[in-house]
Amino acid sequence: MIPQTNPKAAYLAQRDAIDAAIRRVLEAGWYIQGEEVAAFEQEFAAYTGSRHAIAVASGTDALIVALRGLGIGPGDSVITVSHTAVATVAAVELAGATPVLVDIDEYWTMAPAALEAVLKDWPAQAPKPRAVIPVHLYGQPAAMTEISAIAERHDLILLEDNAQAHGATLDGRMVGRWGKAAAYSLYPTKNLGAIGDGGIITTDDDTLAETLRALREYGWRERYISGIAGMNSRLDPLQAAILRVKLGNLQADTARRQAIAARYSAGLAGLDGLTLPAVRPGAAPVYHLYVVDAGARRDELQAKLKERGVGTLIHYPVPVHLQPAYKGRVALGPGGLPRTERAAKSVLSLPLYPQLSDADVDTVIATVRQVWG
Ligand SMILES: *Cc1c(COP(=O)(O)O)cnc(C)c1O
Repeated sequence: MIPQTNPKAAYLAQRDAIDAAIRRVLEAGWYIQGEEVAAFEQEFAAYTGSRHAIAVASGTDALIVALRGLGIGPGDSVITVSHTAVATVAAVELAGATPVLVDIDEYWTMAPAALEAVLKDWPAQAPKPRAVIPVHLYGQPAAMTEISAIAERHDLILLEDNAQAHGATLDGRMVGRWGKAAAYSLYPTKNLGAIGDGGIITTDDDTLAETLRALREYGWRERYISGIAGMNSRLDPLQAAILRVKLGNLQADTARRQAIAARYSAGLAGLDGLTLPAVRPGAAPVYHLYVVDAGARRDELQAKLKERGVGTLIHYPVPVHLQPAYKGRVALGPGGLPRTERAAKSVLSLPLYPQLSDADVDTVIATVRQVWG
């Protein structure tokens, strides 16, 4: 069986260095915050070219802490997408704010036209929306040139959900560097993954960074004194030490993901009715996922691949606004979300992780070609 993803392979690829990092933390005897977390934050800030990086307990928390730090909470509306991990929308509600969901474009990310439309339709008597969260889904940069301009025009805070696109660029500029802050997940299968939960926020704003550091630890500015009302959302030093090892390999891992994607795109070209991932002009995606659009044949393709030992996943099978927890109560952009609803029925994620061999990629390609007919 070729799995869709394989976090254990990432451990085995760097086993000695990861084992040594774990032993270093165990023997240091310092198990919360401290030097390993600070060093990882510095190294991640340097990697992204940000002034600050603030580590937290998960990608969901990275969004929640960022929203709270930006002063967004009860009574505030935040515009984002429904074609995303549920965490994006959950985080907005967990920060106390109200999500408003808009449709996607042909690159599976927030459609600038849909953002414009919801702003144009905004009821005059209602408080203006406060923020917009584009999601760089599947490792594909969202339309940041357009979205940034719209955000500026409408005085919206721009927070990027960069859980799936560590290191991707648009017009030579890293995603996560376009907004006021960016939230990253370090979940094991993400492009930079811990061996457990983790998340990190980047920003260039000194005051915001200081607030985020306080918020993640009881609002402490000095120990035992809560200057603001905070929470507990810390990254374990064990995970930080592991992540430092993994970060050292992120560029090589990303290059491998891109090479696998290129191999798929060459090998799967020309199949009638199977649409391969389009790349936005100016974008260098990092292929967190390689997602094909199989139209009405998606479920059949997935079942036949499974029978032949090729694992796939669907990201995501039910749009957030149609899930039981949200259905009928989250606000949607005008005209609804037809592209989002269609995507949920047609997308399929093929096997993709840096340790996947060319031979396995070729097996996937041959199997898809064979069952597609
Ligand atoms: C994974 C993910 C999150 C949440 O991250 P966790 O670390 O699982 O909390 C948020 N947004 C997107 C787009 C994600 O893929």
